[in-house]
Amino acid sequence: MYFIANWKMYGGLNSLNSLHKVNKFLKTFRKKKVVKIIYCPPSTLIRPMSKKLKNLNIEVGAQNCHEQQTYGPFTGSINSIMLKSVGAKYVIIGHSENRQNGETDKLINLKIKSALKAGLKVIFCIGETIKQKRKKITKQVLNKQIKLGLYKIKKNNKILIAYEPVWSIGTGLIPKSNELYDTINFIKKKIRNFKIIYGGSVNPKNIHELKSINNIDGFLIGGASQDPKKFIDIIKKTYN
Ligand code: PEP
Repeated sequence: MYFIANWKMYGGLNSLNSLHKVNKFLKTFRKKKVVKIIYCPPSTLIRPMSKKLKNLNIEVGAQNCHEQQTYGPFTGSINSIMLKSVGAKYVIIGHSENRQNGETDKLINLKIKSALKAGLKVIFCIGETIKQKRKKITKQVLNKQIKLGLYKIKKNNKILIAYEPVWSIGTGLIPKSNELYDTINFIKKKIRNFKIIYGGSVNPKNIHELKSINNIDGFLIGGASQDPKKFIDIIKKTYN
């Protein structure tokens, strides 16, 4: 199971202290061999975090990248090669917070290609808005996001799909279990052999319900991942 922490635009150098707690927990955890933890901090923390996590069973990822691989005049941007050079092994691409800021499926596709070329693994986010859910077009939306996002990308084990309903992110709402099972199943049938994780308001209170949906390969955790106690709790309860 994957447990991916998305710190979003939170955290300074002192936040790295929380990693000790997670690492200490992991050392004694009976399921440590089957747990894969990835932290995606803001870009400013990738280097110090990966130094801290060297030789530990926790990996580091970035939260986005520019689509171009070479250097260029793109103020404020960071490309996949730069991320790799400071220790990132993964990158989140297509997060709804970036889609809402104008990231298109086509741009997402270019970013995924660039990240793979640089040797990064990709956490590719897809999900429907509340409006689309109400219109009952979730599957069409996901279908389009997958088709365009993965355009001309061969099947490979370097991509994880994160199904994140937009209406669930940061709201405390999660999909009904049967609906989530059905959607994950739909994605799995659409693109076989990809790991599919769920993201959207995962917390220690709802993890019992979420873990019982047995076709999910892990969780992308935003808000709750900033608190090491909550993050550890989510992992523990997944196996209880
Ligand atoms: C996210 O931003 O990917 C996310 C899942 O956030 P939250 O857990 O806070 O809903």
